[in-house]
Amino acid sequence: MRVRFWGTRGSIPVALTSADIRRKIERALVLALDKGVNTPEKLQSFIDNDLDFSILQTYGGHSPCVEIETGTGEFLACDMGSGARALGAHIMGHTWPGTAPVVNIVMSHVHWDHIMGFPFFAPAYVPGARLRIHGCHEVIEQAFRLQQSAPCFPVDFARLGANIEFVRLEPGKATEIAGYRVTPKLQRHTGDSYGYRFERDGKSLVYSTDSEHKLEDPAETAEFVEFFRDADLVIFDAMYSLLDAVSVKEDWGHSSNIVGVELAQMAGVRHLCMFHHEPAFNDERIQSVLNETIRFEELTRGERALRITAAYDGMELDV
Ligand SMILES: [Zn+2]
Ligand SMILES: [Zn+2]
Repeated sequence: MRVRFWGTRGSIPVALTSADIRRKIERALVLALDKGVNTPEKLQSFIDNDLDFSILQTYGGHSPCVEIETGTGEFLACDMGSGARALGAHIMGHTWPGTAPVVNIVMSHVHWDHIMGFPFFAPAYVPGARLRIHGCHEVIEQAFRLQQSAPCFPVDFARLGANIEFVRLEPGKATEIAGYRVTPKLQRHTGDSYGYRFERDGKSLVYSTDSEHKLEDPAETAEFVEFFRDADLVIFDAMYSLLDAVSVKEDWGHSSNIVGVELAQMAGVRHLCMFHHEPAFNDERIQSVLNETIRFEELTRGERALRITAAYDGMELDV
């Protein structure tokens, strides 16, 4: 099971600024001076080995869109945030003009950051393409049509070339989608959101974004521990620091890195991937949250180590 992240930022897309790039170059050059890099060979090795992720790369700025490979010729994705534009180009590159793509989409909810990429999702414009948009909310079709209606967008939803079907799922009830057994779970979020557990060939993955976990209600905690139980990968909304999550941003509908680790440990999860990054955080800040989270896991580790990563646009994980 391969997972590809096309959008990992929460609430609104962001881009690197000129100031961000200048800061990365400055940090890299200061380190290079320190290390005495003065030949092309040393420079190559320095780039490969001495620069951390937040200097050399970027977490990226697209809002949520995560692809799960199916190996069947059909495509499967969670949410249609701004990352869906790049996913659409990827799908077209692997199908068109030979075949019209078949795409299954699973929606956590219809807040704007999770649907805004759809009007730029190329397969929606292809005659003969089939799009199945799954979700538990009654308003999904209305939300997709509304964001493409005048005066907000030039191409009305009704003019899209693809055959688009909306499929209603029921929380707690498993359904087969593109070869996966998919089970939705209601989550705490304004207007509700749903997490999804995907299972196939003894492997399991949970996509759980836009979900606030309080850990105050033992019954609710137990439900999520069961939902995450022994998952190979949990993609988790870790938008806030613990301090923010329990103070100024309580009831804003998102969770912290620390709560993510606690739930994952209780459930025996193998890999926790932090997702839906705060748009105000730069790469250094996200990396430092990741480092803190890894340290917290090491201090609280039980019998099994929990692998922790922070998602970035373009990341691929094999489950
Ligand atoms: Zn969101
Ligand atoms: Zn939301």
